[in-house]
Amino acid sequence: MDIFSPVSVLRGVGEAKAKAFNKLGIFSIYDLLHHFPKAYQHRGAVSTIAETVMKIKQTGELAPTSLVLTVGTDAVTKMIRRGMVLTKFKAYDESGVCEITYFNQGYLKDTFKKGSTFRFWCRPTYEYGHLNLNSPAYEMCIPGRKLDEIVPVYPLTKGLTQKAIAAHVRDALRIVGNIPEHLPTRVLIDNNVASLSYALKNIHFPENLEALYKARKRFDFDRIFCISAALASNTAKRNENAPAMKNTDYSPILSALPFTLTGAQARAASEISADMSKKRQMCRILCGDVGSGKTAVAAIAAYISVSNGYQCALMVPTEILAKQHYSELCPLFEKLGFRCSLLTGSLKASEKKKLQADIAGGENCPDLIIGTHALLTDKVIFKNLGLIITDEQHRFGANQRAALGEKSENAHTLVMSATPIPRTLSLVYYGDLDRSVLDELPPGRLKVGTFTVDESYRARLNGFIKKQAEEGHRTYVVCPAIEESESMADDPDNIYDIDFMCEFTENEPQLKGAVEYASKLKEQLPTLRIGFVHGKLKTAEKDSVMSDFAEGRLDVLVSTTVIEVGVNVPEATLMVVENAERFGLSQLHQLRGRVGRGKAKSYCILVSDTKNETSRQRLEIMCNLSDGYLIAEEDLKLRGPGDFFANGGIIRQHGAALAPITEESDKELYENAVSAAKALIDSDPTLSSSEHTNLAKIIQKMLIGTENTIN
Ligand code: ADP
Ligand code: MG
Repeated sequence: MDIFSPVSVLRGVGEAKAKAFNKLGIFSIYDLLHHFPKAYQHRGAVSTIAETVMKIKQTGELAPTSLVLTVGTDAVTKMIRRGMVLTKFKAYDESGVCEITYFNQGYLKDTFKKGSTFRFWCRPTYEYGHLNLNSPAYEMCIPGRKLDEIVPVYPLTKGLTQKAIAAHVRDALRIVGNIPEHLPTRVLIDNNVASLSYALKNIHFPENLEALYKARKRFDFDRIFCISAALASNTAKRNENAPAMKNTDYSPILSALPFTLTGAQARAASEISADMSKKRQMCRILCGDVGSGKTAVAAIAAYISVSNGYQCALMVPTEILAKQHYSELCPLFEKLGFRCSLLTGSLKASEKKKLQADIAGGENCPDLIIGTHALLTDKVIFKNLGLIITDEQHRFGANQRAALGEKSENAHTLVMSATPIPRTLSLVYYGDLDRSVLDELPPGRLKVGTFTVDESYRARLNGFIKKQAEEGHRTYVVCPAIEESESMADDPDNIYDIDFMCEFTENEPQLKGAVEYASKLKEQLPTLRIGFVHGKLKTAEKDSVMSDFAEGRLDVLVSTTVIEVGVNVPEATLMVVENAERFGLSQLHQLRGRVGRGKAKSYCILVSDTKNETSRQRLEIMCNLSDGYLIAEEDLKLRGPGDFFANGGIIRQHGAALAPITEESDKELYENAVSAAKALIDSDPTLSSSEHTNLAKIIQKMLIGTENTIN
């Protein structure tokens, strides 16, 4: 048994539990150990009953509190109505007595034996003249064994509890013993970074706050180090046999475009054209805020390739987006005398085969090929690929970038980033890629009015949706889940509330699901035409709903984040985001970017009932700022670089959501990680020295572990 064994090797993990783990993206012991707590509770500070009662009387309400109590009466259960069982008992300490109640956990009757002592943790209340604990978390106190002061809170899914995950993690840590270190000792020492064994143990079960801090620092450093090493080793491979494009006159496509380029677009186009005229492979990233017009620049790059007789592949993360690019670019390129085709995973096998034969040089050999990651499969062989463009890069990450690199062999590459990356992190993110920036929006854009509202605005919000429709405009509604019963952990794209010592949330609050939302809205607004779309629908259904919305046969489109990337419907003027606190800021920014694309004033309404201070601050940022780069900087301040990377883009890691360390120490941390990684790759570009075997393995896993997080 080793760290890559499946979780089912753990004691007590049967088929059902293994499935639940899989839902969280946990397959191996390695994954389990990297399923980091999303928050921690400080249960070490224990109060007495008397102190607690006094505090409640003084302040009215109390934060979650730890109490160490002895069970004083036998627990009794009673059914108060169908489906509702109460388990009640009294417990005491030297200062007084309180009452403890659990709902629908009848089996606990046998846990709380008279005379045994437990640590309880919950938000206590004072009613009926005594202190009450409702469904507190508990651990038994065993003489001679110290309870953890800091308790992890994990992202959950159905079939797994906090206690179960913690127990299995503990078991896994015990079984695998010393976890092999992948960072070179030298690097650990030079940067005062903790070992992997220590960090894993303390990220789950911190000995104290200092140990937790050291553990988090280690993982932040680790992540940035590995990403930088991966990018550095990738760019070290940049090749000198790319096709040098002789004809760099792209004025024909400029005349065919329906608008004049912005200054920034023109600059980016000329940088790209200069790169492509050389034999040295272009590795360029095109950065630009949402709506800055990256597609037009991509089209120019594609034109340079095809007009020199080389194919161009344009790869995008969703079928919806592929189809949209195809319908925009195909007429443009056909007008210019080039052939265009669309390759997605949902083509019929026979169609796919025919298209693949054409791409490889068949009779209808296309010049521009647009597709999803289906383009990356081994079966696709290009006749003469000159350029690969990847759009909306943030959903791919470094791993697919590397896979593309293999495919491209000698082709030039252009990556379009949808996520504005804070300036301070760009070094890590871009590695040695050359960079073009679209720092100018096309003329005439109106600012999207952004507001945060809570449930009490529901009726007014529906009225506003109706008004948009009556004025001939369209509305998007984005929900975090597909079905209401889903836990948010069902959707790996969702980002948790980030709160360091957060309050106890054993049950995730109800999430809005796109399906039920749409049917409810239909009842409430019967005159409107409402449709829904999500990642689990068949492609044909998705396409037809999307085109209904794009072509005006629907007034409202309810969806998951599947519409986050790229879609362009200029008539849409209202974006409603439900459970807005559940989304990352850059994600909200992308969603908001779906409106405000036409002439009419547009709005973005963030619906959230969150009371969490950090979440409120994040929504506030959205209301006040419209520049994606500024938003990203603020996001970074709130979340810290490790988390920013985990959820914002490059590599997704399970459940990792840690509060920021301080900004200054962050900056030093990632700069050190980047330079250490670069130095290492300089000294051993292929990581072939025996000392680097583990590191090479981890980076390899990172690069090829294609987690399909695209819904
Ligand atoms: P993104 O950078 O988010 O991919 P798009 O390429 O989808 O942005 O462009 C957003 C919108 O702006 C599209 O409707 C496009 O036609 C329009 N657009 C792009 N460039 C210009 C320009 N120079 N002048 C006017 N409109 C433009
Ligand atoms: Mg785009």
